Amino acid sequence: MKYSPLQNYIAGELIPGNANVLEVISPSDGTLLSTVPLSNYEAVNKAVKVAEKAFPEWSSIPVKERAQIFYKYKSLLEKYIDDLTYLVHEENGKTIPEARAEIEKSIEVTEYACAMPQIISGEVLEVSKGVECRIEHFPLGVVASITPFNFPNMVPNWTIPNALVLGNTMLLKPSEQVPLSANRIAELLKDAGLPDGVFNVVHGSQEVVEAICDHPGIQAVSFVGSTRVAKIVYKRATSNLKRALTLGGAKNHLFVLPDAHIQMTASNVAASMSGCAGQRCMAVSAMVAVGPVDHIIAQLVLEAKKIIPGINLGAVISRSAKERIEHYITEAEQEGAVVLLDGRNCKVAGKENGFYVGPTILDHVKPGMKIAKEEVFGPVLVIIRSENIDDALKIQQSSLYGNAASVFTQSGGIAKYVIEKSSAGMIGVNIGVPVPREPFSFGGWNESKFGVCDITGKSSIEFWTKLKKTTVKWNPESKTNWMN
Ligand code: NAD
Repeated sequence: MKYSPLQNYIAGELIPGNANVLEVISPSDGTLLSTVPLSNYEAVNKAVKVAEKAFPEWSSIPVKERAQIFYKYKSLLEKYIDDLTYLVHEENGKTIPEARAEIEKSIEVTEYACAMPQIISGEVLEVSKGVECRIEHFPLGVVASITPFNFPNMVPNWTIPNALVLGNTMLLKPSEQVPLSANRIAELLKDAGLPDGVFNVVHGSQEVVEAICDHPGIQAVSFVGSTRVAKIVYKRATSNLKRALTLGGAKNHLFVLPDAHIQMTASNVAASMSGCAGQRCMAVSAMVAVGPVDHIIAQLVLEAKKIIPGINLGAVISRSAKERIEHYITEAEQEGAVVLLDGRNCKVAGKENGFYVGPTILDHVKPGMKIAKEEVFGPVLVIIRSENIDDALKIQQSSLYGNAASVFTQSGGIAKYVIEKSSAGMIGVNIGVPVPREPFSFGGWNESKFGVCDITGKSSIEFWTKLKKTTVKWNPESKTNWMN
């Protein structure tokens, strides 16, 4: 085992979880990296008590001072970017450049949090003669963040810097499949000067999530993961009268028009379907070919053939994920899909125990097929043929999900039409993975997100704070008029 067994991080210390543990396996080669405790209500309760105790002092520090800690944290992310990258690569299986890009995004969201004093500076107005109204953001108290396996460093950092700079204290429940980065984040926050108890990590799975949803000391719950669990967490947390923002899965459509730039489209689509082995909620998984685009599909297949497992294509998270993805491909083939590129039964020399699926492209998939509707979460692209843009849009609009949609065309009119009509929260024009960069916020529509607000950017400030509205009058000589 490469790393010592993981422990929970509570009140600035490593605390053993209970005896129940899970193995943390490297997806790249199947080796044992560590073990992670499967904690219970007791651990959550302990972390909440510690975070409640830390809250009064932390929340009373001026936001400009809290931001200073995150300047330091950002510089530590930059200093240790190589180590952090390697850890993500090891526990998640993505390639080194992909893992590095993830840390770079963590740095960018932290940079946004550092600017929080400027962003939330209050609003004041003299509303009547001698009477002033002001609005200020107040933190909620103890909040929780529950995260998925596909971005072990970035998704926790979507929530940690913003929620903490805004004065909350936090309990993080990382994915039990990739728990190592969370403890490293905790170390860096401590080194940056974050007071003990402000940030805590409780490892585990369903039992911990349920305890978070039920614990009366937790005021707000953010969740990122599958739609199935996002619904469970949203319902359970809100039924306990907590704020909840739960981001779910995706099935992102990308429309290709005959006038699209051939090379740009082919290389973008190939990268979008296969980046992070297709395990991105922003990956394109359904390409809608609008009219005669065979010339672009031919180039796309050539581009996809340059994506080599173990070289520029990472592993999928687990053996069961590999089996699930391959099952989707086989089923679609049996239902009549034409396999243009087949990534099943893929082995990487020297990493025979790793979980790899090669890039896969399936043509002539029908909109009603399971693979066209469900989230596959692997390096698999389905191509659905469509006569015109309205029919193409109907396919996208009928999806349960609505994270992202993209269009590849040189026509501004078509692009604008797609922007208006797509039922998705993030749209790309000639961009295969339209992740908004800071300060623009991240969040989908439909069953890709439950709750108001987005999880990053300005929108997240509303989620992590409550507004206090104060009306003040000091001078008795001020004339009395309406509401004075
Ligand atoms: P997941 O839903 O299985 O797990 C997410 C978290 O929920 C983990 O911490 C896990 O321990 C916990 N969990 C799992 N089952 C649970 C249950 N029954 N009850 C309570 N908690 C439970 O998701 P995953 O497989 O880790 O991540 C992949 C999914 O996340 C994909 O669907 C992907 O699209 C989605 N995702 C969405 C976004 C977004 O921004 N919308 C971003 C990243 C990932």
